[in-house]
Amino acid sequence: MITRFAPSTTGHAHPGTLLSALLTWLSARAVGGRVVLRLENLDPQRCRPEFDQAMIDELTWFGLNWDEIVHQDRRTADHETALDRLAETGLLYPCSCSRARLKEIGRAAPDGGYAYDNRCRHQPLPIGGWRACAEPLRVRLPGDAISFTDESGMIIQQTPARDMGDPVVRRRDGAIAYHLACVVDDAAMHATHLIRGRDLAPSAPVQMVLQRLLDLPTPTYRHHFLLLEKSGGKLAKFHQSVAVPELKRTYSAEALCGWLAFITGLRDTPGAVRPSELIATFDWSLVRTEDLGVSWDGSVLAAVS
Ligand code: GLU
Repeated sequence: MITRFAPSTTGHAHPGTLLSALLTWLSARAVGGRVVLRLENLDPQRCRPEFDQAMIDELTWFGLNWDEIVHQDRRTADHETALDRLAETGLLYPCSCSRARLKEIGRAAPDGGYAYDNRCRHQPLPIGGWRACAEPLRVRLPGDAISFTDESGMIIQQTPARDMGDPVVRRRDGAIAYHLACVVDDAAMHATHLIRGRDLAPSAPVQMVLQRLLDLPTPTYRHHFLLLEKSGGKLAKFHQSVAVPELKRTYSAEALCGWLAFITGLRDTPGAVRPSELIATFDWSLVRTEDLGVSWDGSVLAAVS
């Protein structure tokens, strides 16, 4: 097994980050596999360089180690080769459609955003190719319908070209967009298994179609439960309330790991434990499948039902 934990470095690690990192790490370590930390730092609006190091330090503090650490902004050559390839096959096109336009069309996409109607599909690249293009670039997807059951038993069905629309692969600010960077980097590290939160399940089909276009292998997918918090009256992914710097004032790494292992189903009691002590008994059949509400009262994390 070769897998990776791929946090966006938009802030400090929070309990949801640690949960996902722990489950990914244990999956690999339990079978003697390889696990890479990939820092997804390509978004210039949201990522800050100091969060790369903060993420490394906070995951190390928590008790995780990595066979390799990859900074995604050092992978530009491979990302550009993929764009060259898509351009050569005539699939890359410029598109300046605004988010406001997609909102106006108003077709909900499976990932919670708005679907794109593929309007600019027939726009040619300028003379000079994609490098000479100042507009965002999208890739024309074939109409493949994707339907599969992931390792957790989740049924995932989507026709990305229709349900999401052609994805942006290079943004207006020049940054390589998530789906393209993700499939190129997963293939370069020979990832065999992707383990990530259920919120990313709608990303799997579009990534699978991109893998087909680029002749890249498709790994096995597993999606795990999420920690949720009350936000404006509804439940959202738990990530605003508290992050590691504040958690450290109350929790030792072992106490935090013990609590996470307990709510996850890996231990019967919430006593302190190190991640390495969970390897021997790790089994996905122990891991809860339902999302879990969590609260932070300024000093203690608690599960809320
Ligand atoms: N960087 C993405 C995130 O933090 C996850 C990417 C992935 O695991 O594919 O949500």
